[in-house]
Amino acid sequence: MQRQTTQRVAIENAFTAAGRPLGPQEILEAARDEVPSLNLATVYRTLKRMVDDRILHPVELPGESPRYELQEAADKHHHHFRCRKCDAVFDLNGCVNGLSKLLPAGFQMSGHDIVIYGDCRACNA
Ligand SMILES: [Zn+2]
Ligand SMILES: [Zn+2]
Repeated sequence: MQRQTTQRVAIENAFTAAGRPLGPQEILEAARDEVPSLNLATVYRTLKRMVDDRILHPVELPGESPRYELQEAADKHHHHFRCRKCDAVFDLNGCVNGLSKLLPAGFQMSGHDIVIYGDCRACNA
């Protein structure tokens, strides 16, 4: 039980330090400093439990295996930016007005999903 708590704390710390959604491999690399015994299977298992416990929330991008973000971040309406060079995903604050103007007459919008693709600051430098 103690071991599991340590793993969870290390994974949560990885998210806090990164400040952006992370995939299992990124989580492993970030959390392994704290928990050297961590491996990918453990990360997957712990992620599933943390999603069940509503600590983490899956971030689904079209055609990609899920990344994760803290539930408290997911609770605020926001969108994502995906770097086409390093594959990292970042949070975007705010939203776009006027999306309903795109709809044909007689349609009603119930939600939307926006992903912006491009180069992140590090890759663009
Ligand atoms: Zn990048
Ligand atoms: Zn939005």
